[in-house]
Amino acid sequence: MSKISVDTARLPLLLQELRLPAINRLWQDIAARADKEGWPAVRFLSALAELEVAERARRRIERHIVESRLPIGKTLDSFDFNAVPMLSKAHVGALASGDAWLSKGANLLLFGPPGCGKSHIAAALGRALIENGYRVLFTRTTDLVQRLQTERQALQLAAAIAKLDRFDLLVCDDLSYVTKDQAETSVLFELIAARYERRSLMITANQPFGDWGKIFPDPAMTVAAIDRLVHHATIFEMNVESYRRRTAVARKTKVDRQSGDETA
Ligand code: ADP
Ligand code: MG
Repeated sequence: MSKISVDTARLPLLLQELRLPAINRLWQDIAARADKEGWPAVRFLSALAELEVAERARRRIERHIVESRLPIGKTLDSFDFNAVPMLSKAHVGALASGDAWLSKGANLLLFGPPGCGKSHIAAALGRALIENGYRVLFTRTTDLVQRLQTERQALQLAAAIAKLDRFDLLVCDDLSYVTKDQAETSVLFELIAARYERRSLMITANQPFGDWGKIFPDPAMTVAAIDRLVHHATIFEMNVESYRRRTAVARKTKVDRQSGDETA
């Protein structure tokens, strides 16, 4: 067989022009291996294509994690499910796959006292969903309301809400902290109504509905908002004592026991 010489000097430029950075970085190694092991051309080509696609997926997920503003370090792995017996690990795991609920714009509502782990679970689920290819935005509800109020003043509320459509899931953390003066402009209701049955919301709150009267301008709007939120929703009530307090007490008991041992 006659030896064909190929001018490889232009290849990096061509790959750059085609925006194939993974192939550009790895083709020499893969080509050497293919030559050595006598790969058919089709195997070589598909190996390169697979590498580029995998790297693109990884970069996309990285971008989605940055844009999500999720608090870092809150994962499902670091959540102690034993501390919240009413929360089924299997159920949370199923929600983390996303497809069944996000595609129909269903919601997830997390209720429980401060420190019970609502934000942790919300962030951990958000993270898992991003890793499964979805786009998520995590925000404190008061910040979101403030932003939307600014947009309303600029007559841009509808456009701002439409822009949030790019997120499969919007996590509104601490809904109950919305203040009376924020409630007066009802931007939160507009958001809930706009996403209804299309795009999912995850909401955390200390109180299940009882004190939501102060979150919306009037009782009719409160009822209408709750109605839309719960129509297709999973609700977790996490009525356990604060994890912070429990771990602090556990630490203190341990210290007391240790110092007790020393004085004994
Ligand atoms: P909430 O949002 O309900 O007020 P957080 O999710 O902020 O509570 O939890 C308070 C702190 O305790 C956080 O640092 C969180 O990571 C931790 N935490 C809460 N519940 C658990 C749990 N079951 N396992 C591990 N860490 C937890
Ligand atoms: Mg919280």
